[in-house]
Amino acid sequence: MASITVRCPSCSVTEGIVCNGKSTADHQRYLCKQCRKTWQLTFTYTASKPGTYQKIIDMAMNGVGCRASARIIGIGLNTILRHFKNSGPVQLRLGYIQISM
Ligand SMILES: [Zn+2]
Repeated sequence: MASITVRCPSCSVTEGIVCNGKSTADHQRYLCKQCRKTWQLTFTYTASKPGTYQKIIDMAMNGVGCRASARIIGIGLNTILRHFKNSGPVQLRLGYIQISM
């Protein structure tokens, strides 16, 4: 029997993780008994995966266009545009340089 070690994404514990039913797309959900957070490991849509929004920001900061970002990441163009519309102002501090978008 194969087993996987599931780690809580918020408090990083591996003990006290229990299965917590299925999502509407039939993916297994997990519950951390320490911090009471729930999450899932697999996603149907690429835009829902953790880290996708950070990829969008990183690609935009490196000069990749919206359409190219959508094609490379594998999500829709409207998802990219919605992210920029809803994200608000972003401030980055790169050493002594401060950039406001
Ligand atoms: Zn936790």
